[in-house]
Amino acid sequence: MNASADPSRIRFAIHGGAGDLAPDAGPQPEHRAALARIAAAGQALLLRGGSALDAVELAVGLLEDCPLFNAGIGAVLNRDGLPELDAAIQRGSDRACGAVTGVMRTKSPIRLARAVMERSPHVLFFGAGAEQLGRELGLPEVEPAHFVTHERLVQLEDARRKGIITLDHDSDFDRAQKSERADAAFGTVGAVARDAWGGLAAATSTGGLTNKHPGRIGDTPLVGVGTFADDRSAAISCTGTGESFIKVGFGHEVHARMSYQGWELARACRHALDEVLHYGGRGGCIAIDHQGRISLPFNSYVMFRAWVGEDGEVRTGIDPSDGPDQ
Ligand code: ASP
Repeated sequence: MNASADPSRIRFAIHGGAGDLAPDAGPQPEHRAALARIAAAGQALLLRGGSALDAVELAVGLLEDCPLFNAGIGAVLNRDGLPELDAAIQRGSDRACGAVTGVMRTKSPIRLARAVMERSPHVLFFGAGAEQLGRELGLPEVEPAHFVTHERLVQLEDARRKGIITLDHDSDFDRAQKSERADAAFGTVGAVARDAWGGLAAATSTGGLTNKHPGRIGDTPLVGVGTFADDRSAAISCTGTGESFIKVGFGHEVHARMSYQGWELARACRHALDEVLHYGGRGGCIAIDHQGRISLPFNSYVMFRAWVGEDGEVRTGIDPSDGPDQ
């Protein structure tokens, strides 16, 4: 970490998932307002001298509490109608990290992931054992019903009727059907930050896929894939077809292209996304590099996002036209 704090180093970005929103779904003011509010909260923490790690945990925790997005409250449901939540967090200075999968009783999966990172000698916990750790560490618990919203039950019923596992980023999704799917959810939430010292961090949290087989795990809780931070390269949080992101090894692929080939952040992210497409997946990522460049590319129709660049303004975007892929 650099010796002195410099607020001009601060950068921040969050996402509320990528997906296939109906073209006539409108400007989504509720989603934009929530994204702007949460990005501003993360920025304020960084301006008060908070670390990148604190900022990404705060933002992802707020996104988990917001029923509009697929994480925490409002997470999508598995085939049995249960939430199975995944989360991960990583600090870029030393690659310290923690992750959990398949939890449904810990109130904040991202808080539990950070507890794994800081209060256990391990990196990744699953299911009942992860919840047990949370209990031992005194983290708040809830009944699984706490996370379930009416919209997600309707969505699950729809997916069951059609016999599909909804990626929320369905690769063979027919644009003509979009109006019918205007209420389609957007998968996953995440945050990346660069603090006043130049430190990077990333965090991601998700309910995964609607109607997924119990026990299925995507890219989100896999450090080096859906969540990654290294102060020498970038902080990255992904959303999309987890299986394809895993095949690409997304986060580390971006890191490797930057570190070993000297590519710029945007090129490395684009390349990794092309690879995701090659393996049949879709989605996007938010990324901030060690020099403060921001890249927010996606190959789905939309990605819900907000970012704070060099000028300190909070901006939000949904469509590709909403903002530069900086
Ligand atoms: N990437 C997440 C997963 O595969 C889902 C998403 O981003 O919508 O679990």
